[in-house]
This record gives sequence, C-alpha cells and structure tokens, in this order.
Amino acid sequence: MYNFSVRYHDGRLSIAHDATLTLMPDHWLIHYRDPSGELTSVRWALPGIVTDENFSNLFIFRYGEFPQQTIECKDGIMPETLKKRYPEKVFFRKRITDIFKLNNTTIVGVALAVLMLMGLGYWFGLPWLAGAVASRFPVSTEVKMGDTMYENMMHAYEIDQRLTAATNDFAKAIDFKTHYPIRITVVKDKEVNAFALPGGRIVVFDGIIRKMKTKEELAALLAHEVSHVHYRHSLRNIFRSLGGYLFLSLLLNDINGIVTVLADNSNMLANLTYSRELETEADTKGMAALAGNGISLKGFVDLFTLLRGEHGDVGSLKLLSTHPLTEDRLRAAEVMVERQKGVRDDRELEGEWEVIQDMSNK
Ligand SMILES: [Zn+2]
Repeated sequence: MYNFSVRYHDGRLSIAHDATLTLMPDHWLIHYRDPSGELTSVRWALPGIVTDENFSNLFIFRYGEFPQQTIECKDGIMPETLKKRYPEKVFFRKRITDIFKLNNTTIVGVALAVLMLMGLGYWFGLPWLAGAVASRFPVSTEVKMGDTMYENMMHAYEIDQRLTAATNDFAKAIDFKTHYPIRITVVKDKEVNAFALPGGRIVVFDGIIRKMKTKEELAALLAHEVSHVHYRHSLRNIFRSLGGYLFLSLLLNDINGIVTVLADNSNMLANLTYSRELETEADTKGMAALAGNGISLKGFVDLFTLLRGEHGDVGSLKLLSTHPLTEDRLRAAEVMVERQKGVRDDRELEGEWEVIQDMSNK
C-alpha cells in the first residue's frame, strides 16, 4: 500500500524515468531502470523532501540541492497516504485561495473584531489625542479660536457694558499668574452661570453676580474659570468632543475646518461638562492663586454653598451641569479655609467690588 508508480527525474538528464516509489518510515526509496537497463535505486531522506503546490491531480516532490531531483505522481490517494504514513510531516500546505475561502461566520467575526479594535482605539485613543493636541497647540491659535467662538456666541446675548468694565477692573486687581489675556464679559441673563472659552475669554451671567454677597465669591468664581483657561481644560474638552472630526482635520492639516466647526457649534462647545478631575484641578489651582493674593478662600465655600442652595433654580442646574458640583468639592474648600494663613484685607479689591455691587443692585 506504500508503493506508487511515479515519474522520476534525476535532475541531470532531460529524460524522466518510470519508477516505483516506496514510502519507508524515515525515507523514500525510488527504483528505476537507467537507459542501460540497469536497476538503480535512490534514497530520499524524509526531512529533505519538499512539495510543490499541488496542481489539480499532479503531485510534485523535490529533493536535494540544485539540480534538484523530482518525482511526479498522479495517484489521487497520494496525499491521504502521506498523511497516514507521516502524521508529523506536512506535505501539502493549504492553497492560498483556500485560506481566503472564508465562510460567512468567519467574515462577520473578523469584521466585528476590526470594529471592536476601532472602537477601543476611539474610546481610549481620543482622550489621549485631545490632550496631546491641546498641549502642543500654539497659544496664539488658541486665543484666535476662543475669539471666533466668542463672536459667534455673543449674537445671542446682551452685554452689560458697565458691569463688564467693572468686573475686568476687579479681575485686574488679582494676580492670577497666567500668560493668557483674561477678558471677561458680563451678559444680561438671570441664569446663575459662567463659562470659560479657550484663550482667556470668560463669560459671566449677571444672574450669578447679583446673588453674590462678598468680593471673595466673585474672586473664587473668576479664579476657577481662569484655571480652566490656564490649564487648557476648555481646549481639551472641545478637542475631545470634536472627536473624529479633529482627528480627520489634523490628518488633512485642515485648521480652517476646525475653526469653522468651532464657530458653528460655539454654544454647545462652551457648555460642555468638565470631568470631575478637571473641576477639582480648577478648584485647587484657583485656590492657590487666591491664596497667593492673600484673598480668603472662604469665597469658594460661599460660592459652592450658593450654587447648592440654588438647586431649585433651573439656571443653577445649568451651571452645575457645566461645572458639576460635588459635596467633596465643598468639603475640600472648607479644609483649605481652615489651613489658610496670611489673609489680608485688600482695599483695592473691596473698592472694585463695591462698584460692581452698586451697579448690580440697581
Ligand atoms: Zn469648572
């Protein structure tokens, strides 16, 4: 059962011999009669035998260095016999076309795997990308970006020019230690709200100023918003929400495209929710800035208490949704107040605050 009729080619003569192949346990024996009629036998050691791709029903085996010896066999049971005789050795690899003859289940599986990988990349890669891009973004471009958003948003608001001027004077009396040009705009709106745009623009609703009782509360609100600007929270948040679009624009090096999208979606982007980590950072850095100015951190406690007390008010809910207030933020502020030393009464700041109060109480 291990004998096959084959055509043997010794690699030197151009003619092939009719031969008998015997499959021995660790080698092949080939018997044939040479042109002079003499019986000749050739031995192929098993490890040296290589197989050609099998074309239809012709099986080709090669052996040795160049010029290689060759065996051709047309017996259809050859592959099966080889498998039985030498279970360890692979003679016939699958044809490439077979590998790609996938069934539907496999195709669906592969597609799902690819989608999952893309999803994972998007989910985990995007925050990283947003951070990486934000940290390399030129400040001048960031300022321009914020200004574009600001101009697009302001059509919807009525600016209180006098309160705006007074609040900017108030802010100038505090050293926030930032290289960003801080420009505050107060708009006429009952909402207890405020937000920061990338590059230094801060919009404060007069509704929140009217609810404040001390200069420290306003200082705390501004310090918090300035930190969102200075640590590029706003920029990071926007990049993150632009998501795939940002990625595409960067690939295409299309900054104008980003600016257009920013302009079209200014309102939505300005009201993005900050993560808890960013809120905590804005509080911590804001408190550090105020402490550096000798301003009492009690303003943070009062501001948080004011926001919490405003829960019934829809407007306050909006501020809470853009800057989520958690109890631990309030607790953290209380702890900082306890620890604070070197509070001084800033007469200049008090003077600016009195101007604001006079205006907002009218
Ligand atoms: Zn915030």
